[in-house]
Amino acid sequence: MVNEFLNDTKEYNIFSYEDYKSSSLALKLKKIELLNEYYKLIYKKEDKLPVFIDFDGVILDTMEDAKVLLQQHHDLDWNTISRDNAEQQALLANFFKSLNWHTLLSGTREINESINFLKLIKDSVIYKPTIYSAINSLEESNEKHEYIEENIFGIDHKFTMAHTPKVSDDKRSILIDDDNFNLNNWDGYPVHFDSKIESIYPTINDLGELYFLFYYHDDNFCINNELKEEYKKIKVIH
Ligand SMILES: [Mg+2]
Repeated sequence: MVNEFLNDTKEYNIFSYEDYKSSSLALKLKKIELLNEYYKLIYKKEDKLPVFIDFDGVILDTMEDAKVLLQQHHDLDWNTISRDNAEQQALLANFFKSLNWHTLLSGTREINESINFLKLIKDSVIYKPTIYSAINSLEESNEKHEYIEENIFGIDHKFTMAHTPKVSDDKRSILIDDDNFNLNNWDGYPVHFDSKIESIYPTINDLGELYFLFYYHDDNFCINNELKEEYKKIKVIH
């Protein structure tokens, strides 16, 4: 069985992060599909790695669309908003509450095959993914819930009110997020999803990269060595 699998994968070096990064998105998906099969042969994990995945700016490009609407309707530039400016924060809260999330979710660009990657991560034997989103209104919560059920049926999700730090009670938990506030407050392993700005955190551009950064080997939780060095600079890890 293992030999059959290895024959199938001879043409791809599925374990190389370098090769992965230079592949097209279609090939990346294929490689992750093969890695799923590989892990199924090797591991039957009861104790999966918890991975929390932000929604806006990681799965869908809703923030980019929201920024355009904010400029159009309120003449407010997203880049000039300060967390300490109460007036701006109140306007922002109202803006997000009044957004038509149904239209936004159905019209917004999916980021780098996020849905297909999430389906693969959901089927993996080593990761336990949860979509973790900050929400501003009941309508947003309902629409996101419906979107997730429709597009990635069966994946866990967790919604908390906006401006509340995201939390997990498992110290090994990985958070993939594009927002510094969420990453700064995360107790486990923060991973910056590419937001085109410099980050002190390790950065990824597609969700498949997860497989090369955190994985199981010989029944142990492993963290990519380069990544380990990066984490040592920002926080104490064992
Ligand atoms: Mg976000």
